[in-house]
Amino acid sequence: MNLDFLGTLQRTGMCGELRAENAGQDVVLMGWVNRRRDHGGLIFLDLRDRSGITQVVVDEKATSAHAKADAARPEYVVAVKGRVRRRADDLENPNMPTGDIEVVASELLLLNDAKTPPFSPAEDAIANEEVRLKYRYLDLRRTEMQSNFALRSRVAMAIRNYLVAEGFLEIETPFMTRSTPEGARDYLVPSRIHAGSFYALPQSPQIFKQILMVSGFDRYFQIARCFRDEDLRADRQPEFTQIDLEISFPQMDTIFRVTEGFLTAAFAAAGIALTTPFVRMTYDEAIRNYGIDKPDMRLPAMVSLSDLLTPELRTTLKIEQALPVLGFTIPGVGDLSTSARKKLVDEIRTNFGDCGLDVLDIVRLRSNPAYTDLSDAIFKKLEDELRKFRQSVMASTDLSIVVTPKLGTPASWNYDPQWIYKRVGALRLELGAKFADKHGRFAKTGIADDFKFAWVTDFPMYEWNEESKTWDAAHHPFTSPHEDDIQAGRLTSDKGAVRALAYDIVLNGTELGSGSIRIHRKDVQAEIFRSLGMTDEEAHERFGFFLDALEYGTPPHGGIALGLDRIVMILAGATSLREVIAFPKTAKAIDLMVDAPTPVSDLQLRDLHLRVATRS
Ligand code: ASP
Repeated sequence: MNLDFLGTLQRTGMCGELRAENAGQDVVLMGWVNRRRDHGGLIFLDLRDRSGITQVVVDEKATSAHAKADAARPEYVVAVKGRVRRRADDLENPNMPTGDIEVVASELLLLNDAKTPPFSPAEDAIANEEVRLKYRYLDLRRTEMQSNFALRSRVAMAIRNYLVAEGFLEIETPFMTRSTPEGARDYLVPSRIHAGSFYALPQSPQIFKQILMVSGFDRYFQIARCFRDEDLRADRQPEFTQIDLEISFPQMDTIFRVTEGFLTAAFAAAGIALTTPFVRMTYDEAIRNYGIDKPDMRLPAMVSLSDLLTPELRTTLKIEQALPVLGFTIPGVGDLSTSARKKLVDEIRTNFGDCGLDVLDIVRLRSNPAYTDLSDAIFKKLEDELRKFRQSVMASTDLSIVVTPKLGTPASWNYDPQWIYKRVGALRLELGAKFADKHGRFAKTGIADDFKFAWVTDFPMYEWNEESKTWDAAHHPFTSPHEDDIQAGRLTSDKGAVRALAYDIVLNGTELGSGSIRIHRKDVQAEIFRSLGMTDEEAHERFGFFLDALEYGTPPHGGIALGLDRIVMILAGATSLREVIAFPKTAKAIDLMVDAPTPVSDLQLRDLHLRVATRS
């Protein structure tokens, strides 16, 4: 069968648009054959484009069209001229927006043929992701992917519109630059003109956006590509997109308000109405209540039971004095039999290993008259927390766990005095995930209440690095310490106690973004570099241009960056960033479609003054 030329033919509309009221109209549609059903005298083609699907009927009486429909196969590209007709009542398809009508073809053009695809874009579920990525153009034809990218485009546009209305300027910063300080490995680009020198791809526009503040732009934003050569996980990509912004003369509140504003606009673009302001808590509160700096507030928080365990009770129950006793409830896990409960407690104990933590079996404790008061008091505290989530009282289907430190448990582990909170917080999340099917709190229903946002503030400025025995910047080194901590001289005297003017925005236990109020004074910046173990020469070599810029009237400034990919992933209800990045890389950082990275020719290498040496 010969292919047809498009000629001057133009379509009258899109495949997903026709409704009952269009009956009787003559239309021209173009698209892909989604499915084809041959009923002999009648051939049905489901014609698909980005907007949806229309059923086309080709009667054998339309001889030429019928012959072409006979030759058409899935994924052929066709044009149909025909008339819209209401379907008979019993043939309507309520599952399709266009299910009330069909188009009776008078003419059919085969604009292009298609090989039998390795998988059908008409199917919803395709198991093998490698095949999907290799034939990404086919994968992207699937309805689900089309809707993910339509959503992504709407979300990005909503954010742009909001920020522009708030007085932000969108300014591009270079991809070819020099090493930036986000702490990951750089992707390097060799210079042909300068033998032996390299550009680095930016890990973020951090330094540039700060310099734009020095330049007086006041409010900058960019939907910026960032590059980090890190070991990949399901929720990381070597190149990813940030909504990056910076503001001059801000209070933290200014940045929170703008961020809440653009997130509200972004979520509205996905049909979700958020309520602001978001919850705020300090890093210490997050650790104390959730055992983690990115709290998942879809489950009740941890509760401190330390006060209930008096010194006498601790002695009789063999609990270490002074260390925290923590409890939490995972609501709605179902009725666990005595043996299932015991098995669970044993499992938790095994996982604790010899770290010193133990589970206090409060169900057993309750049955012992000597401890009724204690167990009642514990249940009451746990129930108070549970009631913040649910109207009803504690039920037998709710699982409460109490963790105690055994005698001799160390207060600090790996220099970390908060380790017990973190360990119990991790257990809370593990059990939350284990019983997710039962409690249903992680299921996406698309309502605003599913999205629990929080700001976490007052992060520690420094992290102790046990390997190198140094203090590292917990954020990046341009983050300002708390003014009080600078004044009190803690930068030198007590690094572990210095708080940073840094903040994270967290959604359902995931860090969506982070930012900080920056250092705007050269003396403070130099001091921070020094306190991070950099000599003045080293600091000058790496960031000299930036230190110079700070000397020419730098306004106080601060900003934030949020991962756009991740926001869209959450809004799309997708489980991987690869579902919302058009051409993503695999966990091994390979683009399976274009097959990158690849070796290059000797000539190219020579131009770049490079020789490849295989490491032995
Ligand atoms: N540049 C930082 C980051 O990418 C964000 C910021 O401090 O604005 O994490």
